[in-house]
Amino acid sequence: MTDKFAFGPANDRDEDWLVHNVNHKAHFMKRVGETTNPYSGVTIFMWETSCGRHLYSNNHWPMLDSGNWPRCLRCEAAQRATVARKSGRAA
Ligand SMILES: [Zn+2]
Repeated sequence: MTDKFAFGPANDRDEDWLVHNVNHKAHFMKRVGETTNPYSGVTIFMWETSCGRHLYSNNHWPMLDSGNWPRCLRCEAAQRATVARKSGRAA
């Protein structure tokens, strides 16, 4: 068994491999928007993972840099397909 380390808040990223506190894997996430809670005034960041999840974070519960966390296999497959498409090769 290996210890897992996640590094630092990462709300400043637009897209990256990130860890969400309720998940046990790092997902490849893209920030898709942000909104402000009208009652608390807290800024909420909205994220979409390559495997189709919608997640939320704020500055109190930020996304974390993925460090050496294990990556979601469905996100990895989606990323490989994207890279292959961008380089003009079939997935
Ligand atoms: Zn995923």
